[in-house]
Amino acid sequence: MNDDGTTEGEAIRDFIREAIRADLSAGRHETVVTRFPPEPNGYLHIGHAKSICLNFGIAREFAGRCHLRFDDTNPTKEEQEYIDAIQADVRWLGFDWGTHLYHASDYFERLYAWAERLIGDGKAYVDDLSADEIREYRGTLTEPGRESPFRNRPPEQSLDLFRRMRAGEFPDGARVLRAKIDMASGNINLRDPVLYRILHAHHPRTGDAWCIYPTYDYAHGQSDAIEGITHSLCTLEFEDHRPLYDWLIENLPVPSRPRQYEFSRLNLTHTVLSKRRLVQLVREGHVGGWDDPRMPTISGFRRRGVPAAAIRDFISRLAITKSDSTIEIAMLDHCIREMLNKTAERRMAVLRPLKVVIENYPEGKKEELEAVNHPERPDVGTRRVPFSREIYIEREDFMEDPPKKFFRLAPGREVRLRFAYFITCRDVVKNAAGEVVELRCTYDPETRGGNAPDGRKVKATIHWVDAEKSIPAEVRQYGHLFGRPDPGAGGDYLADIDPQSLETLAGCRLEPSLADAAVGEAVQFERLGYFCADPDTAPGRPVFNRTIGLRDSWAKAAAKG
Ligand code: ATP
Ligand code: MG
Repeated sequence: MNDDGTTEGEAIRDFIREAIRADLSAGRHETVVTRFPPEPNGYLHIGHAKSICLNFGIAREFAGRCHLRFDDTNPTKEEQEYIDAIQADVRWLGFDWGTHLYHASDYFERLYAWAERLIGDGKAYVDDLSADEIREYRGTLTEPGRESPFRNRPPEQSLDLFRRMRAGEFPDGARVLRAKIDMASGNINLRDPVLYRILHAHHPRTGDAWCIYPTYDYAHGQSDAIEGITHSLCTLEFEDHRPLYDWLIENLPVPSRPRQYEFSRLNLTHTVLSKRRLVQLVREGHVGGWDDPRMPTISGFRRRGVPAAAIRDFISRLAITKSDSTIEIAMLDHCIREMLNKTAERRMAVLRPLKVVIENYPEGKKEELEAVNHPERPDVGTRRVPFSREIYIEREDFMEDPPKKFFRLAPGREVRLRFAYFITCRDVVKNAAGEVVELRCTYDPETRGGNAPDGRKVKATIHWVDAEKSIPAEVRQYGHLFGRPDPGAGGDYLADIDPQSLETLAGCRLEPSLADAAVGEAVQFERLGYFCADPDTAPGRPVFNRTIGLRDSWAKAAAKG
């Protein structure tokens, strides 16, 4: 089994891949060329991962290639930081564009020349209407648009004005270049769409060379054609733009004829994926940054300890179709858990420590007990965990007055310490406020390793760490950023942020082997979940993130049907 859910040699089937197979067998293309075209106006999110896995996946399956192209046509919103982050994230997801890194801005000169040509052919004109007037003239879904009074100005006049737009003679918004198509078209995208607007803005790549910039609709298809893209895959909202995409390809001397296919975007419960909203969450400080582990960004998942393979596996389970749907986030969680259960090494940590003194364990004695690193993977071996007279256990593994179904530690009761000994609780020490602050226990030296030679059983095994050798740590636990499954459905999505989605626990204790845990690489804290070291970790002061808990509600629900 591959980590994308396919078996070797098994073909993935969806309407896009079927169209590609048909093109190849009809000899319409020799090589399949796709592209992933992010606009560098934010970090990549899990929705982008669907597009990345589709475009790069297809290139791999059909022995073609996939380009990474920055759609950098709107310099007011785009930044170098995003360009760098996007490349790092695509690589981290496991994909490689080789030498095929491009920018729409690489083509600005050619796009401009083609625009002049459209003007010369009488297929584009400079319009002096304001943005508001253009909107007003555009009409609605039920009413045709009206022609701009500048629509029939002579091509020479448009050409002169267009050149002067480029030369910087006019302020932002004073004029635009529009395609001359059909103001009565049933498709609003064909009602003389804007091709160029004036923007006196510094561009991360072209600097101040330009003060007019092509629109997405004008730049996108032509960039595809310049790069020889055969199949241009985008999300459904561009379906109505396809006639314009095709019109431009037909009316320009472009070197190839790409075709656009649309598929439904990924939506997830408890999640917002619109970049506008993600930018707002970051800018207004509702989260700690783009890589806040509660963010649905690739960098957020990485920081939380989610392996790239789990994201690929999740995406591979999504159908590529044309129908909109919202996926339960529990399904993503399930993929993460399933992957980590296979790969993550086991460790012990105590999040809310309660001290246990083992009265009959010799003072000053120290030993090291052998612990397996993964129950199903003997190849990852064992480690040694220190043990002595004083240890910590999880506060919630003890109850002074336990109800019937509580089988863990209680006065007079014996339990197993994982990989260590059986202990029995003899006494409880409380502070002035009446809170339990320490347990006095005894251990059975005959039970080293966790088994009693006389065959006696205990009903619970609990985890622990050595009091002296364990290391103090901060642990951050995350819930879904949005409490309700459909953030914003009640009006303001910001109001749906769960203030309890981040819980910071100080004074946790980790087994010493975790001192040099690799940042971002999740391990299982036995009985608690999956956790990984956070980049905030400083020498001697580890900070861990909970990647995900152990309980899997999705698998249970799916099994029930
Ligand atoms: P947003 O709508 O969140 O602002 P966008 O579509 O404007 O995102 P781009 O950078 O233009 O963001 O997207 C790059 C590519 O990723 C596009 O081809 C787009 O269709 C695709 N994409 C974006 N969001 C999703 C999603 N939720 N599911 C699948 N593909 C997506
Ligand atoms: Mg976009």
